[in-house]
Formats: sequence, structure tokens, C-alpha cells
Amino acid sequence: MIAARSFAGRKVALFGLGGSGIATARALIDGGADVLAWDDNPDSVAKAAEQSIPTGDLRAAEWPGFASFVLSPGVPLTHPKPHWTVELARGAGVEIIGDVELFTRERIARAPAAPFIAITGTNGKSTTTALTAHILKAAGRDTQMGGNIGRAVMTLDELEDDRFYVVECSSYQIDLAPSINPTAGVLLNLTPDHLDRHGTMQHYASIKERLVSGSETAIIGVDDIYCAQIADRLEKAGRHVVRVSKRLPLTDGFFADGTNLMEASDGRYERIAFLEGIGSLRGQHNAQNALAAVAACLKVGLDLGEIQSGLESFPGLAHRMEQVGRKGKVLFVNDSKATNADASAPALSSFPRIYWIAGGLAKEGGIEPLRSYFPRIAKAYLIGEAAPAFSATLGEAVPYEISGTLAAAVEHAAKDADADGSGEAVVLLSPACASFDQFRNFEVRGDAFRTAVEAIENITPIGGTR
Ligand code: ADP
Repeated sequence: MIAARSFAGRKVALFGLGGSGIATARALIDGGADVLAWDDNPDSVAKAAEQSIPTGDLRAAEWPGFASFVLSPGVPLTHPKPHWTVELARGAGVEIIGDVELFTRERIARAPAAPFIAITGTNGKSTTTALTAHILKAAGRDTQMGGNIGRAVMTLDELEDDRFYVVECSSYQIDLAPSINPTAGVLLNLTPDHLDRHGTMQHYASIKERLVSGSETAIIGVDDIYCAQIADRLEKAGRHVVRVSKRLPLTDGFFADGTNLMEASDGRYERIAFLEGIGSLRGQHNAQNALAAVAACLKVGLDLGEIQSGLESFPGLAHRMEQVGRKGKVLFVNDSKATNADASAPALSSFPRIYWIAGGLAKEGGIEPLRSYFPRIAKAYLIGEAAPAFSATLGEAVPYEISGTLAAAVEHAAKDADADGSGEAVVLLSPACASFDQFRNFEVRGDAFRTAVEAIENITPIGGTR
């Protein structure tokens, strides 16, 4: 736990008492702040009170007396409309911040030399964060990982100058962290997402930009126009920018040439690492994640040998193109996190011959955007509510069956893939759908896939990060 000592003796209002809100309240109290916490859900308030966190209705509070207002990142700051506490704080001129801001201030005050890598982007945040932390740990660095993944940032181990912090940041968290100043800030990519919470793409992009514009070194994936413009803008403003591309041979920066990771400088380039044979980092999207992790690790002082060995031992994250088993030439891959067509595209593009398990609760557009991958699909096994609509899209283009349940789909796909004579075949769960019609969430769906795979006769299960 990191005590928020910069708030000692100050009155702080806090709203949002979920897991991270309670942790933040604790950090403030431990640091000596006078906290008043609240939530719209009475159960959450009761739970906090049980843990000796002072609670009180913020509607009735004396707002001008607060030095700061700490908001949970899940609570609307701007869109669709500001939460009522935000209006009250603004009316009283009280600053509105979140837990990443508390972390930032503590680090500045107490351990400014502690390497701090902050990672954001529309896709690949968790993978890049986990990979970066893994490389650092494997190289023997004292490493803490958290934020939008795993532990809430204030529950990480106390700040020390020689401790490394790798923090995943959602746009909501960045929006509440005006002084964020990582040693290495990573912005992977930007595509329209969460616009319900950010209004316009411009607003969404400007929030993400803040993470890199405050960084000592800004590592930016320049494969989309929004990020490319941000990189140009920061460079013009005199910031240190490192460009990363999963496909363009850059003249300066880091780029992927197939599975080779290259560093370019003044138009000359050399291979600095490679992903060949690393199952957990297959696919072009993972080349982007790996390049960003490599650039961040170089920035904080690792050498290339340490980095390559960390890449090779990365186990991957559960439910994201996670290899869960092998039987002869058939590989079983759990990509349950792919809850829409865009998220399924990387997995479908990563394997040449696929027995594809898809379906659940369909998103707008269904699987139409995946049509260019249809030639890779040997057969589709459709589950859940989306099955009829998906079968209509597949039509004559792809053989399919309506399996109904995940268990039946795994059984049938495994049998068909086993009989496939054309080299390596993959049984891939990449549903392109939400899970809620049949499962509590995508994690439960992915776990059910692993369980079904592990029950196959003569299967060799593969690791798992749980
Ligand atoms: P996030 O934390 O940003 O949601 P994850 O690392 O959990 O991202 O990956 C979620 C899914 O997004 C993966 O299963 C994969 O399909 C896709 N993905 C991962 N990295 C990238 C990337 N760099 N670009 C595009 N899609 C990606």
C-alpha cells in the first residue's frame, strides 16, 4: 500500500467505493488525510463504513472546505453527463483527481527516480503492460504492476527509488491525472471506442495524448492517423518521441519486419529482437505490443539480452489468444476476450487454418467485418443467440454447424481438426460476441473453454496464467 502522504492534514472528498475506491480511501487515510467518502450505492457505503472509512452524503457536505475531490474512474466526469458530485466540486472550485494522480504526486514527492512506465491505447493495453512487467521481472528488477489491470495503483508496494512501476491507464484514469509524468509513456493506438463516455474522437484522443505529452519519453504507435499526428505534434513541441510501427519501415524508431523487431536510426536499421517461435506473441498486433514494451524497457535501462529472454518466457494473458492445449498437430486457442468483430480480427489473421468457435450475444454489424478472413476458416461452430445471424453471414462461403453450446462446439471442432490432413490446425474460440447469454462474463466463458479442452482424450494442456 502506498500512503498518500502529500494529502496529510487536508480534507478530501471521495466518491465511488468499489474495490479501487476503498483502496484509494485507505491510502489517503494512511497518509493522514481527513477523508469523507460516499457512493450512490448504500451497500458500498456500508461496506466502507465497516472498514472504518469515514462516510457521509456529499450532497450535504461543505464543498469549499475540501482541498481535493477524488473520483473513481468509472464515474462520468464529462459524458454522457457529469456526475452530480462533479458539478458540486466544479461549483466550489475543488480539483477533481483520481488514483493515478495520487500515485503521480507521491512519486514526485518521495521517489522521483523510481522508473514509471504508463501504458494506454485503445487495444493491447493489458498485454503490453503484462509483457513489460514480465520482461522487467525476468531481468531481476523489483517490479510492481497495476492500475487498470490487476491491483489498484495505490495498493502497489511502497515507492522506492529503485522500484519499477508499470501502470496500465484507461482514458478515464488519465482524465483524472493532470500531472501524470511517466519516465516512459506508451500510447499504442487509437480507434473509436467508448465514445459514449468521451463524446467525440477528438476529445478521446486528446485525453490519451495527455499521458504521452507528460512523459519524459513518449513511445507512440504511429499506425493510425490520430497517433501519428500526436507524435508529430509532440516532436514539434520539443518532446522526446519514439515512434513504433507494426508495419512501416520507419527511418527513426522501432518497427516490425515480419517477426523481426528492428531499430532504425537515420534510415539505418538493425534487428534488436525477434518474436519467431514465441506462441504468446503471435500476430501483427502483438508485434506492436512487443515493440512498445521493448522501447519502454530500453528506456529504463534494460539491455537487449535481458529483453529477448523476457519476450521468450512471456506466458501471455489469459483469454487473449491464449494457448490452452495441443493434441498432435491441433492447437487450442482461447480468445474469449474478443467480444466484437474487431477484437476477433487479430486472432483470425494469425492462423492459416481455423476451426472457429463463434457466437454469443452479437454486437452491431455481427461478423460481416471479418469476411476477408473467411478463406482461413475450415469450419465454424456457432453458439448462443447469434448463431442464426452468423450462419446467414457465413452462407455458402464457410462450412458451419450450429453447435448451440460451447461444450458441443469444442467436441465437434476437436474431432474435425484432428481429421484435418493439411498441417497445423487451430481450434479457436474467438466469439466476436459478448458472453452474457450463456456465461457470466468473458473470463467464465474462457475458463469453460479451457475445461472442455482439458477434458479431451490425449490432450496436452498448456500452462495457463491463472
Ligand atoms: P486492452 O487491455 O486494451 O483491452 P488486451 O491486451 O486485453 O487489450 O487485448 C484485448 C484484445 O485486443 C486481444 O485479444 C486482441 O484481439 C486485441 N489486441 C491486442 N493488442 C492489440 C493491438 N496492439 N492492436 C489491436 N488489437 C489488439
